[in-house]
Amino acid sequence: MNTSTQQVTGAVVPVRLMDLTTSERAVALYASDMPSGRRRHSVEQVSAWIEQGVQRLGREQTARWGAFLYGHRLLELSRSVTDQVQQRHEQKYPQRGRLAVADQNAANNVFWTGLSADARSRNLDAAVDGECACHGTGSIPAFYEEGLGTVDMLCPVHAAVTLRAMRGPLVAA
Ligand SMILES: [Zn+2]
Repeated sequence: MNTSTQQVTGAVVPVRLMDLTTSERAVALYASDMPSGRRRHSVEQVSAWIEQGVQRLGREQTARWGAFLYGHRLLELSRSVTDQVQQRHEQKYPQRGRLAVADQNAANNVFWTGLSADARSRNLDAAVDGECACHGTGSIPAFYEEGLGTVDMLCPVHAAVTLRAMRGPLVAA
């Protein structure tokens, strides 16, 4: 399982499963030979597919896409996904069902194999692939209220640190 002991030859980059965040594992699974059906697989099998996906995408792209995937999820939860961001998301993941299976398997895999301190510290990293509804300011004009004017809400991606501090230790990374 510990592939860091593998011989590094050519383009093969050693991947340590523990160092991959939940979203990175989901992105890797989507890119792997994992079947799209909702069948149960062994932890070893899912781990092997994750490794395969990372080899296909490369470590850097896996990390970038992982942050995009989590950012998309956060924006989706607050109904703040812009058309451009949604389009790019669907281009990367045309098969919605497959992405859901990849997500589920990634979450299970993290449960069984754990996260290294490094992966844990990055597990809530989010980024937006495209122009965010907050334009990078951290606040999204949410609604208009008489007497108050436009009421802003904090962007779940670009104001994540503020939001986490407000919510307290329950959701601390
Ligand atoms: Zn934003």
